[in-house]
Amino acid sequence: MTISIDATVNGAQADGTNMEELKSEWQRVAAQLQETIGEAAFQSWIKPISVRGLRDGMVRVSVPTRFMRDWVVAHYSERITELWKSENDTVQSVDISIFTDRAQKAEKSPEASAPVAQKTLKIITPSGRVSQSAEISASLDRRFTFDKFVVGKPNEFAYAAACRVAETTTSNPFNPLFLYGGVGLGKTHMMHSIAWHIREQTPHRNVIYLSAEKFMYRFIRALREQTTVDFKEQFRSVDVLMIDDVQFIAGKDSTQEEFFHTFNALVDEGRQIVLSADKSPSDIEGMEERLVSRLNCGLVADIHATTYELRLGILQSKALHFSSEIPPKVLEFLAHKITANVRELEGALNRVVAHSQLVGRDITLEATQDVLHDLLRANDRRVTIEEIQKQVASHFNIRMADMHSARRARSVARPRQVAMYLAKQLTSRSLPEIGRKFGGRDHTTVMHAVRKVDELREHDPSFAEDVELLKRMLEG
Ligand code: ADP
Ligand code: MG
Repeated sequence: MTISIDATVNGAQADGTNMEELKSEWQRVAAQLQETIGEAAFQSWIKPISVRGLRDGMVRVSVPTRFMRDWVVAHYSERITELWKSENDTVQSVDISIFTDRAQKAEKSPEASAPVAQKTLKIITPSGRVSQSAEISASLDRRFTFDKFVVGKPNEFAYAAACRVAETTTSNPFNPLFLYGGVGLGKTHMMHSIAWHIREQTPHRNVIYLSAEKFMYRFIRALREQTTVDFKEQFRSVDVLMIDDVQFIAGKDSTQEEFFHTFNALVDEGRQIVLSADKSPSDIEGMEERLVSRLNCGLVADIHATTYELRLGILQSKALHFSSEIPPKVLEFLAHKITANVRELEGALNRVVAHSQLVGRDITLEATQDVLHDLLRANDRRVTIEEIQKQVASHFNIRMADMHSARRARSVARPRQVAMYLAKQLTSRSLPEIGRKFGGRDHTTVMHAVRKVDELREHDPSFAEDVELLKRMLEG
């Protein structure tokens, strides 16, 4: 971690503002905040803030941990800035940085003759234990909170379970909580919501949220740097451990082993674990049996594909945040047409709004269709790899099983290549994903197939016609 060195820590003020004055301004700002945000929030977030100085219209304050910094920035920085501006009209902005308690004490104590810069760096090093959760937890998206999550039939069960876990501080009713569902359906949003809620309600609890990839990465680094003992310690001192997208851990043996031990140790001590994945524990390939059974002991909650009602609800809630007027007809149209997942739905709405603001015209159904024509077409002709394989197999009169088999005879290899080619053309799947659907072939095999078919199409008109016909049938 790097940290900028604060040149005003010794109280020297570049623009001549008196430090005492600045501090009393802060007292007044804080008092006003206290009235509006309440005592608990004030004690947790505002009280720990220290004033560091003012320069070029920017007030600098600090908090002791990264987590506090993120929270204060997300929730209070605008209000602090506004209030401070009304106290002192030379203030334009407020900068919130991290400064540890120990560094502050060292700075104040008379025997602290060594340069502050050196002390700061010494305290905040990657291996230092200054802030536990802030060190390993990934940052949380401020938009991902419970109040921004729209609940409907497909996600109500998972939502209820998540709320319960977020609210329970003593016994853990569902441990571990395992949330699963397809991409873009709100798993990460739900996990961040749990973390925000716990951090807000009970800031003393150590909540760690990170992706399984990051967990793996840190574990591998710890192995390399021979710091696995520290690694384990860090994780075992948490109250709530949340790991997103655990399907990435499956099949990675040593990481899975470590994960399993960490996991067991935490559950045995009654700490809460929340995990997410794109599939249920039993459906994740390469997941160890004992891990699966341990996961199944907690609560497994799935998030289903969205329904029209939920999509419309989400669009209506998002529409409130835009200043542009969005006709209900447009929202209904989007909810009807963009069915893949919520991420795509949000993206579509953003595009429509951005377009209307750019060209300065009202949002209409026609404009929406126009702006989203590519997306709408893709949603219209969403054909699956299985459909392609079936169609191609029947066209060339081979067995469906030969799409997956290892047989290399031209009579089956060529149709298989055509199917791979069409999968690339007609779906949004990546080369490795396509390879997997064809009996676990490598992405280079798919790439080769695509090139081969292109080449044949160029030199063999009847082959080109065949491919074209298949393509039209599949798009039909
Ligand atoms: P996942 O982790 O399941 O792939 P995300 O949590 O990243 O999905 O969700 C994708 C986007 O959709 C995010 O911007 C999220 O806020 C939004 N989203 C998903 N479900 C909902 C919901 N029920 N209400 C509001 N926004 C949602
Ligand atoms: Mg996610």
